[in-house]
Amino acid sequence: MNDKNIACPLCGATVNLYKRTLNYGLRLLICPQCDLHFISPFPPIAQEFYDQNYYRSWGMINDVLPEHVKLLKEKNMRKHVKHIAKFISKGDVLEVGCALGSFLKVAHEEGFDVTGVDLSVQACEIAKKENPAAKVFQGTLETVRFEPESFDVIFMSDLIEHIPEPFLFWEEICKLLKNNGIICMITPDPGHWSCMLMGSSWVHFKEEHLVFFPKNTVNWVCQNFGLNFIEFSHVVKYTDIAYFSAQTKQFGPKSLAFGLSMLSRILPQKMEEFLFPLPLGEARYILRKLV
Ligand SMILES: [Zn+2]
Repeated sequence: MNDKNIACPLCGATVNLYKRTLNYGLRLLICPQCDLHFISPFPPIAQEFYDQNYYRSWGMINDVLPEHVKLLKEKNMRKHVKHIAKFISKGDVLEVGCALGSFLKVAHEEGFDVTGVDLSVQACEIAKKENPAAKVFQGTLETVRFEPESFDVIFMSDLIEHIPEPFLFWEEICKLLKNNGIICMITPDPGHWSCMLMGSSWVHFKEEHLVFFPKNTVNWVCQNFGLNFIEFSHVVKYTDIAYFSAQTKQFGPKSLAFGLSMLSRILPQKMEEFLFPLPLGEARYILRKLV
């Protein structure tokens, strides 16, 4: 295929800057206009992908998440909720891609009214069960159709990189946000040193990650969708050996997966579940909708 005929899925500009071939064979392109980094062509990802076995890499067995994974997910989400509360301390929060509902739980505990939407039928059932106070909808923003200007905060973590039509997606979430409302987005940043260091083996280069938003791309989004760029920072995620080992088994290099599973076998459970921070190049963006 001729690279010169590829249109950027965000800004529509013609892209002919071919960056690299990733480990699993697909090409990474960079848009010269908005700096979006994207995979070309997009691999076909069926909805079932997010149901069948997707949460096995979280250690989930028979719809039950191990307690230590629940706790580490909540610890990571609590950090974001506390940060959001510095800008808006109460109101209606929508989480797009709510997965098993850890954010919804913590945001509710902090006093927000919480709504979640997720593509996965299985995840929605668990999120509902775990969060009786939350409104949880299965589907996408297009299929669920929330009222415009319904939310004070829209939160999305590890979500936007899965979206094949990012322009339409930004249009939709900006419509749903109230004036002065906040967007908090967590997503892998290809401008981070971990990406420079690991190259094509960067942990976030995996088949279901289609688009990447470095800082310049988010600037473009703000200018084109009436948002104010409030803050950009890199965040570390807490993990533990048991969880990291399960993740690496599914996504990581075989040698690392083998080493971690050996370590898992010899460590006592307490140490295996000891939390430590891992800087893997995730950025947190805070954006505000202009009046
Ligand atoms: Zn572009």
